[in-house]
Amino acid sequence: MNTISYVFVGNLYLNITNRCTMACPYCIKNKWNNNFNSNNLKLEKEPSAKEVIDSIGDPKKYKEIVFCGYGDALIKMEEVKKITKWIKENGGTVRINTAGLANAYHGKNILPELKGLVDVISISLNGANPEEHNRINNPMLKEKSFDEIIKFVTEAKKYISEVVVTAVEFPGFDTSKVQEIADNLGVRFRLRPYLDDEK
Ligand code: SF4
Repeated sequence: MNTISYVFVGNLYLNITNRCTMACPYCIKNKWNNNFNSNNLKLEKEPSAKEVIDSIGDPKKYKEIVFCGYGDALIKMEEVKKITKWIKENGGTVRINTAGLANAYHGKNILPELKGLVDVISISLNGANPEEHNRINNPMLKEKSFDEIIKFVTEAKKYISEVVVTAVEFPGFDTSKVQEIADNLGVRFRLRPYLDDEK
């Protein structure tokens, strides 16, 4: 079944694509067979912008409407722009969770297109240097991805009012170094728990 949207702790999460710029071994696409909190997030077919909007209802009912996946919504920029525009016009708050490689993927700076449409962008950075990042996330562009993400964070600050860098508490991963990077970039840092058991 196609789960386009699902509620979790007061937020509405949108699952608009399973495609991603990384192939993280810890992703639930691989680990939990696409299940999250009893939702099957495997998309047999990617939804249109209209199908996503129709699944939302009243955006004001939720603390945030979060583009999450499992996949990277910024691969689908045209749909993201249509959906976020509609959410903002209807009083909602928008967060996008991303792997931070959308500019590299599209071959252009997509961030100006999100100005006024996105309240918070949350960029995952699991790795404090190119080698560690490459080992943990298996990204496109391999070692170059780390520098691309740093550039993406810096650029995002110009167009989106709240930019957050996140890192997952994997066993043996020193997230304090990522926190230092976030501090130096002048953005908020958020630690995410490592979910080992299926929820
Ligand atoms: S970035 Fe997120 S969605 Fe993409 S493979 Fe990694 S965990 Fe999965």
